[in-house]
Amino acid sequence: MNNPLETPIEYLKGVGPARGELLRKELGIHKYADLLHLFPNRYIDRTRYYKINELQNSNAEVQVVGKVINIKTVEQKRGKRLVATFVDGTGEMELVWFQGQKWIRENLKINVPYVIFGKCTAFNGVFNMAHPEMELLAEHEQSLRSAMQPLYPSTEKLTQRGITNKVMNKMMQQLFTETQAKFDETLPPALLAELQLIPKNAALFNIHFPKSNELLAKAQFRLKFEELFFIQLQLITKNLIRKHKIKGHPFTTVGNYFNDFYQNHLPFELTDAQKRVIKEIRNDMGQPAQMNRLLQGDVGSGKTIVAFMSMLLAIDNGFQACLMAPTEILANQHYMGLSELAEPMGISIKLLTGSTKTSERNIIHEELENGSLPIIIGTHALLEDKVQFKNLGLAIIDEQHRFGVEQRSKLWHKNEIPPHVLVMTATPIPRTLAMSLYGDLDVSVIDELPPGRKPIKTVHRYDSNRLKVWAFLKEEIAKGRQVYIVYPLIEESDKMDYKDLMDGYESISRDFPLPQYSVSIVHGRMKPAEKDSEMERFAKGKTNIMVATTVIEVGVNVPNASVMVIESAERFGLSQLHQLRGRVGRGAEQSYCIMMTSHKLSNDSKTRMETMVRTNDGFEIAEVDLKLRGPGDIMGKQQSGVLNLQIADLVKDRDILMLARHHAIKLLKEDAPLAKPEHAALKNAFIALSKKKSIWNYIS
Ligand code: ADP
Ligand code: MG
Repeated sequence: MNNPLETPIEYLKGVGPARGELLRKELGIHKYADLLHLFPNRYIDRTRYYKINELQNSNAEVQVVGKVINIKTVEQKRGKRLVATFVDGTGEMELVWFQGQKWIRENLKINVPYVIFGKCTAFNGVFNMAHPEMELLAEHEQSLRSAMQPLYPSTEKLTQRGITNKVMNKMMQQLFTETQAKFDETLPPALLAELQLIPKNAALFNIHFPKSNELLAKAQFRLKFEELFFIQLQLITKNLIRKHKIKGHPFTTVGNYFNDFYQNHLPFELTDAQKRVIKEIRNDMGQPAQMNRLLQGDVGSGKTIVAFMSMLLAIDNGFQACLMAPTEILANQHYMGLSELAEPMGISIKLLTGSTKTSERNIIHEELENGSLPIIIGTHALLEDKVQFKNLGLAIIDEQHRFGVEQRSKLWHKNEIPPHVLVMTATPIPRTLAMSLYGDLDVSVIDELPPGRKPIKTVHRYDSNRLKVWAFLKEEIAKGRQVYIVYPLIEESDKMDYKDLMDGYESISRDFPLPQYSVSIVHGRMKPAEKDSEMERFAKGKTNIMVATTVIEVGVNVPNASVMVIESAERFGLSQLHQLRGRVGRGAEQSYCIMMTSHKLSNDSKTRMETMVRTNDGFEIAEVDLKLRGPGDIMGKQQSGVLNLQIADLVKDRDILMLARHHAIKLLKEDAPLAKPEHAALKNAFIALSKKKSIWNYIS
């Protein structure tokens, strides 16, 4: 028999082609199953009935049982209204209509018990309710509709075209009638028992027609758990498959380069976190399966050296390694930093970006292909088809969220056996998000800063205090420090922003005049060569102030720069602010971050400023960011599709997520192919889900 839930929605009694079209367009409801999984946004508690003498003038929604004893039209300057007197034995109140008066007059029954529902206010000591929802008590008692009344997601168009919440509710009732409310159980009995989850049927019924608050809570818990559980199953299965099926080069030796570096060339003692992470990576790359690891570490936590030592492991085993960065500036920085480490060991390392000259480019192509170049650093230029490796063993990608998934897999396909992949990010991803999105990636975290760093002092100042801020900058410059002043330039093409930046640069140049001071500027409209030379002047200490846009956000490392001024800070998101702040605090000196804003701030902006002032902890900041913006925004559009959760909420339901993950891991350990008979239903649901919405596309 066909699954009734696959029936197109227009076949549901009371829907038809026109409404069907509307439901499809407005809510994406194509078939019965979609409607069934349209979960209410909230519920109105209709478990409670008020007596008229209990009413309060609070504008709260209340429900009263009583009768209409008379009805009259009241003429007013501004038009007519219909007023009914409603009594319940404890008192009387008024029901008022401004619209649809004729219909009410003709249909309202006098002296018959009604249940009324609506917002109640008092006027001259008399309580009244405008446009109450009304239902005959007799019908009310019979209807499937529950005490907790669901409010469904809707759109203006739907309401305009008569698909009100009430209609939605009726359709849902109809769906339950037609399908006889029989829905397949998807979770195994043992799990239901262990977690005391209510059965699927009961959960779906109570999510739409909750009989009580308690049952509603149980239904919500069961459905949230189920949703997160299946996502975790998908992610973890994928990880298992990769570990078993995707071959990788096992780096079996820890050889000369690694040991030589470790013993003779380490520029500083590694932190415990760095040591731990290197061990994790070494372990992974020692396996004959592809590594796919996310390396999270706050700005300045020292990811570069971890990357370098991972590369040494590749070289020790006769493979090449590459590092890809999202911008030319950053690629350049990496190149300089890594060259410094590689040079004493006689390791050849080159840079390939959009501005690499053709002659040089050709040489690089050749050396990569014949294997004489072991390490290449670059931008997207590395992805071009012309770039072929003799044997790429490790691909490191910095700041991964700037690269699409497609681009990443392009690197993979450069050789038959894919390289190990290490993705580095300085944007701490809240654990909940990481778990739901990257449940399939192994994660290493550097959660410790190198010793001796002084926490950056962060303050929030209003534009009106600029004179004082400038005086402070002069003091710091007098001590030999350097300063960043960053302007928002969200889109490089935005004219207004560009103008702000240039105006800012001019006034800064005036306030910090030559010859005492010198000011650099870097922005996206400059030619790469110009940018680089300005950057270099600043890095070498030839200029005191660097005026820039967010192009310096990622990776730039000038230890002598100790003050970061962020202009119009209210326009930056939290993670950007944190990234920018991470540009200072890299040297031995006390560093400062000064966020300048106007006086007018939204509540969210205030929260952002307060959070930045309060903490330097990237994870804490990421959690606040997640709360403020929601997961979709944080991961960007491309990945937010995964997070189209029907009922669970990654922020509020993190405990359920942990639980779901725990049980998914447990179950897969026990029965990874889901072959046991008691997992048959689970397997079916799992396959159906994987077909429907493939999370896989979104991730690596
Ligand atoms: P990020 O994680 O932001 O990429 P970097 O790798 O650029 O951080 O490191 C930031 C700075 O800290 C660099 O100047 C680097 O040399 C230094 N550093 C890294 N690890 C250590 C360590 N264990 N001890 C002292 N300094 C370190
Ligand atoms: Mg870095």
